[in-house]
Order: sequence, then C-alpha cells, then structure tokens
Amino acid sequence: MMMTLPTLLRLTCLALCGLAVSTPTLAAAAGEAKWSLAVHGGAGVLERGELTPEKDKAFRAGLDAALDAGARILKAGGSSLDAVEAAVRVLEDNPLFNAGKGAVFTAEGRNELDAAIMDGATLKAGAVAGVTRTRNPISLARAVMEKSPHVLLAREGADQFSKEMGLEQAPPGYFYTEERWKQLLAWRKDHHAMLDPTHLFGTVGAVALDQKGHVAAATSTGGMTGKRWARIGDSPIIGAGTYARDGVCAVSATGSGEYFIRESAARQVCDRLAWKGETVQQAADGTMAAITKIGGDGGLIAIDGEGRAAFGMNDLGMYRGAISSSAPTPRTAIYADEPSPR
Ligand code: ASP
Repeated sequence: MMMTLPTLLRLTCLALCGLAVSTPTLAAAAGEAKWSLAVHGGAGVLERGELTPEKDKAFRAGLDAALDAGARILKAGGSSLDAVEAAVRVLEDNPLFNAGKGAVFTAEGRNELDAAIMDGATLKAGAVAGVTRTRNPISLARAVMEKSPHVLLAREGADQFSKEMGLEQAPPGYFYTEERWKQLLAWRKDHHAMLDPTHLFGTVGAVALDQKGHVAAATSTGGMTGKRWARIGDSPIIGAGTYARDGVCAVSATGSGEYFIRESAARQVCDRLAWKGETVQQAADGTMAAITKIGGDGGLIAIDGEGRAAFGMNDLGMYRGAISSSAPTPRTAIYADEPSPR
C-alpha cells in the first residue's frame, strides 16, 4: 500500500506519541464512521439483594433510555456534544438518579444542582454550580459554554443567566422526591456527613465519540445529601469530574467529589493515556487507585479517541451502560462484579 508523507508522519507520531494525536482520528479518516457512547448513573455501596427486582429493572431501563437518546444522535451522524447532552437530560428527568428531578437535598432542605459539559474538539467547556431553578442543568452548562465568555457560573448568577437564556425553568418543588427527602431526614437524625454512601452518591454522566472522531463529556448531579456552606463537588470542575480532549479521551466521574478534585481525576485519566501510553482501562484503574489511596470512593467512565469504553470503580457498584457502532444494543451493568459493557 502506498502511503503519502503526511500519513506516514501521522502514523509515526501515533506510534511515538501514544494516543496524544489531533483530530480526526484514523478511524474517522478511514471513513469507518465509528461511534460510541457510555453513561453512568452514580456509584456507591450497592449490595446485591439491596435493590428489589423492580428497582433493578427500573435503573437498567433508565440507563437504556439514556443510551438510546444519545445513540440515535450518533447513529445519524450527530455530534458527541449533542449526544452526551441528550443522554444526560434523560437521566436528569428520571427521578431515580441524583441529578435534575431526584437530586439529593442540602442540609437546609434545598436542591442545589451542579453540571458540566466539555467539547473535546475545541477544549471549550461550560459548567454551573448550585443552581436551583433550571430543569436540565446540563443544558445550562452548555449555554455557559456557547453563549457566555465564561466556563463556570454559580448560584444566583447562574440562575439569572438561565432565565436570560430562556432555558426551561422549574419551581424548586419540581426537584422534590420522597426518597431523597427521607434520606435527608435520616442524615439529619444521624447528623454526620458520611452516612451510607449509597444514600449520598448518585450523579449522572455520559461520554461519547461521534462519527467525525470528536469526543465530549457531560456530568450532572445534586451533589451529596446534607451538603452545607455552598459546597461544590467535582462534577462542575473541569479536569476533576469532567474532561474531554479529541484523540485522547473523554471522562465523567462520580463519587466523593473532594477526592476527585484533589486527584484531578478526569484530566488524570487523559494524561495517563497521552503521556504514559496506558490503555483507557489502565488509565481508569490507575486513577481510581490514586483516589483509593487518599481515601476517596466512587467510579468513572471513559472512552478513548477510538471509542473504546472503560469503567473504573472502587465501590460495590456503579450504574453504567454502553452502546457503540460495533455493539449497537444498549448494555448495562450495576454491580462491580458484573462484567462492564464494552
Ligand atoms: N461527585 C458528586 C459530588 O461530589 C457526588 C456523586 O457523584 O454522587 O458532588
């Protein structure tokens, strides 16, 4: 096969520089029209038998619906950015997950929502923290990215920006669910922040590769039950809970956010790929090992520049799923000892 000089240089660079290549990926350049999507719905201490069969089914159906929404866009040649936003919106609207409707309560009994989105093609990112009135915070994060000169807006200012952008508003009562309210009451009774992590964690996220070879990541959360003092976790911090860079990887994390911030977890996964030549699974596992070492727990999803998905966790479970052009039926898993979809 004859190879042009630029192709040869590019292949040499691929070999020498690991996955740290610019877009489009070789797969896209070869016209393979590959796409891939992975989602999560939070990690925590999920003992087998703790979920009723109905709940188990409902969680998996929720993940399937998110995968369907994103896959429809990717299959049709849409962007990874649109796909991760669509997948996360479905999870935000599902009261089972700790994001949007179904978010956990703060110590004062409010819902304060955080979200972030990142475009691997441009390294543009948008995020919001502590918002209280936007039905789908992930779309507000996208508006910050596309319609403001900023990356991160917080609290009243972000609520104000949301109104000005004409995003769908929801009264604070919209986010209420009985189950989350009971979790707050239990937290208040015990009055310590580290109750059973099953009750504290949640968060939803998505990572995708589109047919043009671009990756994107999105994360949305209510944070942790009983959070106080305008606490903000890792989800809206670019490089901690959310990160995407074309040709390298896209990541969304969930768990004890403080530790993911301290380890720059999402960016760390990508750096391990780019600079250490690790596979995406090695990078996900290595980053989770670093989180474990400093006492954190949770999990993360990642895809590399070729759309290979990886799931890392140090909890007993993480609601997770994947779908791709090579395996176009949604596949989900919950428990850590259940094989992760590939
Ligand atoms: N990482 C989120 C936070 O710390 C919580 C979670 O994933 O459950 O706000």
